[in-house]
Amino acid sequence: MEVKESILLSGNPSCQGCPHSLGLRALGLALDDPVVIIPAGCSTIVAGIHPKATINAPVLHVPFASAPAVASGIASAFRREGKKKQIVVWMGDGGADIGFATISGAAVRNEDIIVIVSDNEAYMNTGIQSSGTTFWKAKTTTSPTGKSEERKDLAAIMLMHRVPYVATASVGYLPDFINKLEKAKKIRGFRFIQLHSPCPPGWRFDSSKTVEIARMAVKCGAWILWEFDGKLSFSPASRPYKDKMKRTGLTEYLRAQGRFKGIDDSDIETIEKNIDMQWKFLEAFENF
Ligand code: SF4
Ligand SMILES: [Mg+2]
Repeated sequence: MEVKESILLSGNPSCQGCPHSLGLRALGLALDDPVVIIPAGCSTIVAGIHPKATINAPVLHVPFASAPAVASGIASAFRREGKKKQIVVWMGDGGADIGFATISGAAVRNEDIIVIVSDNEAYMNTGIQSSGTTFWKAKTTTSPTGKSEERKDLAAIMLMHRVPYVATASVGYLPDFINKLEKAKKIRGFRFIQLHSPCPPGWRFDSSKTVEIARMAVKCGAWILWEFDGKLSFSPASRPYKDKMKRTGLTEYLRAQGRFKGIDDSDIETIEKNIDMQWKFLEAFENF
């Protein structure tokens, strides 16, 4: 059996316990010969500073808002040359906020690219500012008393673009992420994966606990793993938690993160209600 070399080389400058490192390793295991487009964000740093490079694949660094537009052009150029390449946008949730117009445009045109949003729920690289996907009540430098708005559901928004493949994934369940990438690479057209990426310094937990926190999010139902490939289905790790009674550890999940310091029981109750609503929303699509 061929053992693939890691796409992410050792000695890279990510923080300890960085979720992007886990995600990038999985990406390299699943995709053959990817070309990676990275807009500004932590992954720009993780990829290394010239003349050093830590991603063992062709990488193009581009401004925040342009990544899916650049990827569309590159995919088209390779197609004209008759070359088969996996054109991948690897971006954060900040890039996905600022670059949403180009994500949406590429999805509407059904460009033959894979867009992965490694979602650590804030603009970490610029100092932990709140983003559209930041969790309600999470403290960031722009929401010092806790975010007052609900997070947006980016994957569901992409689902509404009627593209061939949309999924959520988690760095706590890398085999599931790899399976989704393997499925996505066989599909032509626009593919989108939102990867849940707990960030130790941004969420304020110990760097040894990235995977543990990511799994807690799935077990309490706050992060739901699903995929759409013509039909929406819940992924095996999340399926048991369709049953609300099986969801466990919401309070522990929140209390394990410094960004939720000071959260009270009534906030937790509200979060629980919002989680229930999110499940019902997705179940409606499952049964559609
Ligand atoms: S701030 Fe978070 S996402 Fe950014 S490099 Fe550090 S651990 Fe990774
Ligand atoms: Mg981010």
